[in-house]
Amino acid sequence: MARLKNNYRKRTARTISRDELRRSRKSVKEAVPFKVIPLGGLSEIGKNCTLIECGGEILIIDCGLAFPEYEMFGIDLVIPDFTYLKENSEKIKGLIITHGHEDHIGGIPYLLRELNVPVYASPLSMGLIDHKLEEYGLWCETHVIKAGDTFNVGSFRVEAIQTNHSIADSMAFSVKFPGGHVIHTGDFKVDYAPLDGKVIDLRRFAQLGDEGVDLLICDSTNVMREGYTPSEAVVRKSIDEIFDNTEKRIIIATFASNVHRMRYFMESSMKHNRRIAVSGRSMENVLSLARELGYLNDIPESLFVKISEISNIPDRNLTILTTGSQGEPMSALTRMAYDQHKSVKLKKNDVVVFSSSPIPGNEKIISQVVNQLYAKNVKVVLASAMDVHVSGHASSEELKLIHTLIRPKFFMPAHGEYRHLVEHSRLAQSLGQPSGHIYVMQNGDALYIEGVRAHVINGYTSGEDVMVDGYGVGDVGNVILRERKNLSQSGLVTIAVALDSGTGSLMAAPEIRTIGLVYEQEHKDLLDEALSIVYNTIGKSTEIGGLDEQSLTRAIRSDMKKYIYQKTKRSPVIIPIIMYV
Ligand SMILES: [Zn+2]
Ligand SMILES: [Zn+2]
Repeated sequence: MARLKNNYRKRTARTISRDELRRSRKSVKEAVPFKVIPLGGLSEIGKNCTLIECGGEILIIDCGLAFPEYEMFGIDLVIPDFTYLKENSEKIKGLIITHGHEDHIGGIPYLLRELNVPVYASPLSMGLIDHKLEEYGLWCETHVIKAGDTFNVGSFRVEAIQTNHSIADSMAFSVKFPGGHVIHTGDFKVDYAPLDGKVIDLRRFAQLGDEGVDLLICDSTNVMREGYTPSEAVVRKSIDEIFDNTEKRIIIATFASNVHRMRYFMESSMKHNRRIAVSGRSMENVLSLARELGYLNDIPESLFVKISEISNIPDRNLTILTTGSQGEPMSALTRMAYDQHKSVKLKKNDVVVFSSSPIPGNEKIISQVVNQLYAKNVKVVLASAMDVHVSGHASSEELKLIHTLIRPKFFMPAHGEYRHLVEHSRLAQSLGQPSGHIYVMQNGDALYIEGVRAHVINGYTSGEDVMVDGYGVGDVGNVILRERKNLSQSGLVTIAVALDSGTGSLMAAPEIRTIGLVYEQEHKDLLDEALSIVYNTIGKSTEIGGLDEQSLTRAIRSDMKKYIYQKTKRSPVIIPIIMYV
């Protein structure tokens, strides 16, 4: 009887009924409030970074980068705005990393340049992070953690939970602290047959769900895909089929960080009496790291052959693993496709496998490479035609499973564009979660939770994109982007004018130069007429006793703008340069 009663109590504690709200009112007064502040990863896929703040302590989960969008001319990458962290640096206890993808670790060097934060990550993630820190000449306190570990970061009791994803050592975090209990899934899928045999720890999710979870922060990437994301085992089957039926060279382009899949390509090559050559620096780096960490222990060194020495190997005995699955212009595969690779000249009937799917935005550039490969008469295998790649993110049925196991009080969909977050909210509602307990937020908002009550503070801090261009971090803003956009669309016109400093009259003929507007040789008339416009403007100025430098600059720009638009329907950037001699 006692047990029944307990069970009953447990069940009601997980859903918020009106009764329970009333009952828990007393405890609300005593509840320690906390905030969850996403600095990145919402309404975008990239630069994931989430803060949990409670009792004057901050825990950071992930610190990623995003790749620039189409309109971000010349920008190298985008990172979260760390202003809030800089303003509250004394509160920061540590940074915990779910996995080693760039959208989760790529921002770390930029954070550590500003702040000294201890980092907790799995062996592979830490290896990748170390590599970055070395590159940037940075150092920080590091703690290597594994799924199943529980450790303290300040007053946060963190437990790392095994998940499955397209990189080894991915984990979710359960974070318990005086204010509550938050579960952050990281990027995950449910794979019952992962290549490393480490199945997502669903049992632990269920146990934690039973204990009670205040907030679930969950990956939304594939919420719009129905059903289940196929297991990596599917890739194994397709790859076997390719190896069984090919007598020619097999060239596989994939993400190096998917170490388990890379390992499978190696095993399959071994089985089919093929040696392996690796091309692409990032892939070589990750493989040497994976070897150091023991992920490739049973793959003999003798299996590998230098890419510069492949000419001695018969076609049927060679596999080439390469970078370039996203059509990157300088990558090894792209160089092969355009005949610019030092060691690999593509041959008729070589088999090129794209063990990847296009990251949104890369489709066009990839199809250019694919067309080029077709022109070389090689056989191209794409994931759209054969299961040579599966996603690393949970589809809707897997998400439902996680929600059902965890049954959180509140839910914040994360890691997705706006439409993904909204669909994920709908999915949670379809499972019975009240819409008032789901928070579709924006970067920089704060979710304030106190016991059974929660609300969003919009624009709590800056959730803006910080753009990195060369050495400059954050110095390129919207104004400069607009200028770059204008330059890229209609070019530039400079007008150099030399004036007498005493009288303000012209000392020499003004000089007009254009870049990206018209081909000057063929538009002499246009430029001659433009010159007369400048004479005209200066003449008007002298008539009224000479304009000051600023007003004259403005007048020249305005008259020229009107003239060029009238003649060409183009609006170039116009820069008058006035010199007084
Ligand atoms: Zn990921
Ligand atoms: Zn991610």
